[in-house]
Amino acid sequence: MTTSQVCILGATGSIGVSTLDVIARHPDRYGVFALTGHSRMDVLQAQCMEHDPVYAVVADGKQAAVLQSTLQSAGKQTRVLHGAEALSSVAADERVDAVMAAIVGAAGLAPTLAAVQAGKRVLLANKEALVMSGSLFMDAVKVSGARLLPIDSEHNAIFQCMPPGYADGLASVGVRKILLTASGGPFRQYPLDQLAGVSPEQACAHPNWSMGQKISVDSASMMNKGLELIEACWLFDASPQQVEIVVHPQSVIHSMVEYVDGSVLAQLGNPDMRTPIAHALAWPERIDSGVAALDLLQVACLDFESPDVERFPCLRLARAAAEAGGTASAVLNAANEVAVEAFLSRRIGFTDIPVIIDDALSSLPAETVRDLDHILQADRLAREHAATWLANKV
Ligand code: NAD
Ligand code: MG
Repeated sequence: MTTSQVCILGATGSIGVSTLDVIARHPDRYGVFALTGHSRMDVLQAQCMEHDPVYAVVADGKQAAVLQSTLQSAGKQTRVLHGAEALSSVAADERVDAVMAAIVGAAGLAPTLAAVQAGKRVLLANKEALVMSGSLFMDAVKVSGARLLPIDSEHNAIFQCMPPGYADGLASVGVRKILLTASGGPFRQYPLDQLAGVSPEQACAHPNWSMGQKISVDSASMMNKGLELIEACWLFDASPQQVEIVVHPQSVIHSMVEYVDGSVLAQLGNPDMRTPIAHALAWPERIDSGVAALDLLQVACLDFESPDVERFPCLRLARAAAEAGGTASAVLNAANEVAVEAFLSRRIGFTDIPVIIDDALSSLPAETVRDLDHILQADRLAREHAATWLANKV
C-alpha cells in the first residue's frame, strides 16, 4: 500500500491534534507532509519532532526562524515556511493527497479553496470557509474533481446516512429531510435572565465536546448550529426548509436523514471527533480511530426537543441568512467572528453577540455573489461594521 500524504491546516488545534492521533495509529497508510499552526509553537514543535513533516507553516518570520533553528539542531529536515501564501502552497502541493482543513474562521478560506482547486481529498472541518463562499466553493469542487468529505460530526453523519447518487438531487433519491442534531450547548437550561452575564469560561465549558474556543462559544450561542445549517445546505444541495434542527442533549445521534417512505437513518457514536476524522481519512474504507465502542446501555436514554429560538436568536439570524443567500452568509459569519472575539476578550456580554450580527445583517443587504473578491469585500465590510458597533458601545 502506498502511504497517503496528508497536509494538516491548523495542526495545533483541537481537530489537528485529533487528526494526528488517528494518523499515528496507521503509519503504514498515512504520512505527514505539512503541519501548520498560528500560535502554540511549543505544540507545533513537538508535532514536527514526532511526525517529521516535509514542511511546517507558521504565521510570521520570527516564529519561523525560531522553529527552524530548533528543528535543525535536533537533526530534523523539516523546512519551516511562514505567511498566508505558504498555507495555500502546501495545501496545493502536488505531493499531497489529502488536506485536513482545520484552521478556524475566515482565515482558512484561501488555503481550503487552494486544496479544492488542486483537486485534493479535502477533509472539511473549517465550516466558516464553506459558509462564506458557498456556491463558489461547491463549483470549485465540481470543476477540479476534488473529493470533499465533511468532518463536522453532523455532516459526516448525514454523509454516512445519504444514499448513493444524492448529489443529483435529494428528491431524486427519495430523501425528504435532513435532521440536524444539536446538543443545545451549556446554556440550554440556564436561567434566561442571567445569560447576559455569563463568562467566556462558562460558555467554553461544553457538556459533551472538547473543542477550540471559537466553536465552543458558537455552540453556546447555537450559532454553530446556524452555521451548520448553511453548511448542510451547500454540502447536500438542500434548501434551508429541508434542514430541521433537533435538540438532542446526549450528542449520541450525530444527525439523521429522513426518507419519503418514512425511514429515518441515523449515525450514532461517542462524541469524539476521531470518528469522523478516521471515516473521512479512510473513506470508503474503515479504520480504527481509537474511539471506544458506544455503550447504549450506559447511554440508556435519547432525548429530543425543539430548539428555543427566543433563547438563541443566532438560530433565527442564520436561517434568515441562509434564506437570503448571496453575500448574507459571509456577513453573518464575519460579524459573528468579530463578536465572538469581543466576547472572549470580555469587551461585550454574551447576549450582545446576536445584536451585533443582526445589526450587520440589516445594514448590509444580501447581494448576488460575483466572485471571491466580492465575498472577501462582504467579509471586510461586515467586520468594519461590527467594529464600529463595538467602538460605539464599549
Ligand atoms: P482551534 O482553535 O482548536 O484550532 C484552530 C487552528 O487554526 C489552530 O491550529 C490555529 O493555530 C489555527 N489558526 C487560527 N487562526 C489562524 C490564522 N489566522 N491563520 C492560520 N491558522 C490559524 O479550533 P478547532 O476546534 O480545532 O476547530 C477548527 C475548525 O474545525 C473550526 O472551523 C471549527 O468550526 C471546526 N470544527 C471543530 C470541531 C471540534 O470538535 N473542535 C468540530 C467540528 C468542526
Ligand atoms: Mg458540528
